[in-house]
Amino acid sequence: MKIEYTNFGLASRVGNIIYLNKRLLKHPELHDALLRHEKAHTSGFSWQDIKIDIINPHLKGVKLKYWAFLLSTPQSWVEVMPIYYKDGNLLLNPLISLIWAFLITLAGIAGLILKI
Ligand SMILES: [Zn+2]
Repeated sequence: MKIEYTNFGLASRVGNIIYLNKRLLKHPELHDALLRHEKAHTSGFSWQDIKIDIINPHLKGVKLKYWAFLLSTPQSWVEVMPIYYKDGNLLLNPLISLIWAFLITLAGIAGLILKI
């Protein structure tokens, strides 16, 4: 497993490479929690990965720091985009895509109810 530090994003795993935002190095507690989280993911994509993101036991105790870091670091916001670009590849974040699909569906239903 290889760790690469990036300018953008927060933490993700593609195959056996874990990408961490380089600004996390200033926050060792959050850095280590996110590294444990990414190591727990599989090298591909499975229901196990969705379960890990939903339950997310690794961020227990650093949730406040997680949100503070995410909100105060605009470079990490690509993490909440359903599709993002990294190292020449267009990648899909499956869980975020499901959340976006759900919100867009809700917005569509709300639009139909209000006949906008
Ligand atoms: Zn995850």
